[in-house]
Amino acid sequence: MAPAGIAVVGASLGGLRAAEQLRAAGWRGAITVYGDEPHLPYNRPPLSKEVLAGEAPAAVTTLRRRPSVDDVEWRLGTAVASADLAARTLTLADGSVHGYEGLVAATGVRPRRLPLSGGPPRHVVRTLEDSAALRTELAEGVRVLVVGAGFIGCEVAATARKAGCEVTVVAPEAEPMMLAVGEEPGRVLRRRHEARGVRFRMGRLVAGLTAGGAVLDDGSECAADVVIEAIGSLPNVEWLGAGAVPGQGAGAGPGVGGLDLTDGILCDAHLRIGGLPYAVAVGDVARFPNPRYGALARRVEHWSMPSDCARHAARVLVAGLGSGGGGGGRDGGGAGGGDGGGEHGLAPFAPLPSFWSDQFDVRVQSFGLPGAGDEVRLLAGEPDAGDGGGGGDVVYGYYRGDRLVGVVALGGTRAAALAGGYRGELMALPDEVRKSPVL
Ligand SMILES: Cc1cc2nc3c(=O)[nH]c(=O)nc-3n(C[C@H](O)[C@H](O)[C@H](O)COP(=O)(O)OP(=O)(O)OC[C@H]3O[C@@H](n4cnc5c(N)ncnc54)[C@H](O)[C@@H]3O)c2cc1C
Repeated sequence: MAPAGIAVVGASLGGLRAAEQLRAAGWRGAITVYGDEPHLPYNRPPLSKEVLAGEAPAAVTTLRRRPSVDDVEWRLGTAVASADLAARTLTLADGSVHGYEGLVAATGVRPRRLPLSGGPPRHVVRTLEDSAALRTELAEGVRVLVVGAGFIGCEVAATARKAGCEVTVVAPEAEPMMLAVGEEPGRVLRRRHEARGVRFRMGRLVAGLTAGGAVLDDGSECAADVVIEAIGSLPNVEWLGAGAVPGQGAGAGPGVGGLDLTDGILCDAHLRIGGLPYAVAVGDVARFPNPRYGALARRVEHWSMPSDCARHAARVLVAGLGSGGGGGGRDGGGAGGGDGGGEHGLAPFAPLPSFWSDQFDVRVQSFGLPGAGDEVRLLAGEPDAGDGGGGGDVVYGYYRGDRLVGVVALGGTRAAALAGGYRGELMALPDEVRKSPVL
């Protein structure tokens, strides 16, 4: 089968940004984006906030597309069933087979589900349809049980409460958003939710579901009319599962040089899959080492990451394919002059992670990787000042030894701006990273 340009699998933020960045990197050949949802790429953050609250039409989720991708082919509403990395073909759910020269994996994640049956109506929030379906349930006095206290659980709890629902959050950690921000900032966040009427059953698991709600692992009951499952995500990797890295055999596992699909697609320091010059991954599905924080490869489910990944991966891919796809080389920068790697090279991908989360009038703003710290210090504000819910702005710093590796603000725009003031310090690369080899 003749190769046919670059195939991007996944038509969301990562897929769109990859297509745009391929053009910016000088790729003039065909780009085809395959997506299993029926929509053009849309923005997910409002789905748990304004759209779920009915404060904004679903249209606010539309993502602007650069004119450079006007000629991209969008094949929507069809899943890619499998990819053959050696033959460079994709097989779609309808059985058709399509060749590609280069591949971008941008298939994101899907919600994990409770391994329980029965119970009241159960919802997740990942897609436009999920948000629309849940919205119809949220009304004054409806008892909502949110299972999970990560950022999506906390956001939907706030949105449901604002809609007048009686909201209880159940999660095994000691405090909400603890994995993202640590225990003490999590406590402050919980107090702000509690001050607005959200109840928490922290340190508890849902053991069973009944028609009237849930039974927790201490035998207590939690009455609910609606259950929202927000217990994390599963990377969409199955379509690559049968794929072999050429010369290394199908299904080769971690440590043997094949595809490692445990918790996302393991990539190298340039986001390449299986070390191949013609296959890269971006966004929520990509697990990659970030030399800012050591050799451990991690997935990062933050809105900023698909764009950061796309910028780097597109240049790597265009360089790996060795031409701009138009017979005449690249238009522009190609892989040259990249990311501090010198004139001809691209330094390893070393993004500064960041995320925000809006819960009631509290913005949680994070820069860096708080989880990489071994000590949390209060940098500004008084956590328990104010209305009993700890109303003021607070900023925390996360340190590994003396090095600042993360900053989290809770509060209003002033707190977020204060946190932003630490970006320069967080951006500074450790010496060993600055000296690492370029591509
Ligand atoms: C409700 C919600 C609120 C959020 N709020 C925030 C926020 O406030 N701040 C923040 O920083 N981040 C937030 N995020 C996270 C942010 O939206 C994600 O990080 C971002 O959407 C990731 O983009 P992606 O393109 O990597 O993956 P996704 O958006 O998951 O897109 C992957 C696409 O690939 C498709 N796909 C999967 N498998 C296949 C296949 N085999 N064939 C074809 N297509 C396939 C999927 O259906 C999907 O359309 C939020 C996410 C959600 C769900």
